[in-house]
Amino acid sequence: MHDFMIIVFLLPVAVISFVYTEFVILTDIVGLRTRPVTRFSVSFLLSLIFQYILVMIGQSAIGSACFYIFSMPMTNYYINRKLSLATSVATPLVYFLYYYANGLADFAVTNFSLMVIITCLITVGQFVIDSLLEWAEINEFLRYTIIAVIVNVMGIWLYGYFMIQTITNNYILFVTMGSLLMQFLVTTYSSVKEKQARDFERARYNEEHDALTGLYNYEAYGKEIKRLSGSSQDYNVIMFDIDHFKQINDTYGHLEGNGVLQYFGTCLEDYTHTKVDDSALVYRFGGEEFCVIMPKMKQERVKEYFLNFQAELKKARYQTEDGRSVELTFSGGIASTGKSAGISSAMKKADNALYQAKNLGRARIEICYENWFFVKKD
Ligand code: GH3
Ligand code: MG
Ligand code: MG
Repeated sequence: MHDFMIIVFLLPVAVISFVYTEFVILTDIVGLRTRPVTRFSVSFLLSLIFQYILVMIGQSAIGSACFYIFSMPMTNYYINRKLSLATSVATPLVYFLYYYANGLADFAVTNFSLMVIITCLITVGQFVIDSLLEWAEINEFLRYTIIAVIVNVMGIWLYGYFMIQTITNNYILFVTMGSLLMQFLVTTYSSVKEKQARDFERARYNEEHDALTGLYNYEAYGKEIKRLSGSSQDYNVIMFDIDHFKQINDTYGHLEGNGVLQYFGTCLEDYTHTKVDDSALVYRFGGEEFCVIMPKMKQERVKEYFLNFQAELKKARYQTEDGRSVELTFSGGIASTGKSAGISSAMKKADNALYQAKNLGRARIEICYENWFFVKKD
């Protein structure tokens, strides 16, 4: 009963807890940006300490047949591949230290060599099984479960064979059950972590994207402006504002108005990325105001591109749900960064140019040249 409790429950839970503790220390405390040598040294030291504790617990229950030692390289391998090497190296050393500390120096040396051989066999074995199962197209969860069982049973058998010890069927059964528990703990924890990572990714996406059009929002624009302020590259900024949008809302309703915003956003993004510059950033500032930031090219050329977009948009027309078609036009303002204008001042100039376009009758695009603050009238 004592062995059963230790092998089936206590050791598997302890092993997994230690492995995750090690992983958290390495990623959150030591940090992923430290040098590989530092990370290896820390994981090696932690493996030594944790495994030593486990050997001490295991010894009292099943003599020297500590099956869980074989599980550690495997579990680590699936939680974090880089850790597995450090753990594999630490395993034989832990045994050596344990026996040496207990006054069995001769046995410690023999045991060490045998452990190195066993660890190598187990490591190679797990690679071979993994490749065979992957090749047989067995899904990931089942693959890891099969590996956990085979590797642990193989481990305890090899241990018995090399150490000339009798391993009873009971031990093999207990080890199999313990392996399955470990497998369950690892996969449950991993799926929780994966869900957290997905939620985090979604929250980050929502923070920077406009919910209606899917374009970058004003928050993302603020961050980009900060980033571009220190950039030595020059940019064009183009501000857009849909003409008489209030009238569209008033005529077709706010829901259709939203449909128009989505439609305009998609058309603007598609056109900009396919016809103008695929690295351009397209924003919705709010309401019916949009903005494009792109690497600098001649402003007249930018104007030509977006006048062409205006023509396409006018021709395509927006279709309402009840089949009415709406002609859309926009006004635009262009400005660029340069020697005398950073990105914020270019934004102001583009905005001025946009107002000018509105004043001059809408459905047109104006340029604010680098050395002018106000747009020159035609
Ligand atoms: P102009 O040609 O001068 O730009 O006229 P306009 O009507 O487009 O501009 P105005 O600023 O007068 O009106 C903008 C309207 O856009 C007012 C507001 O109700 C509407 N609006 C702002 N955000 C949204 C939105 O998310 N959905 C919808 N449907 N309407 C919006
Ligand atoms: Mg507006
Ligand atoms: Mg408008």
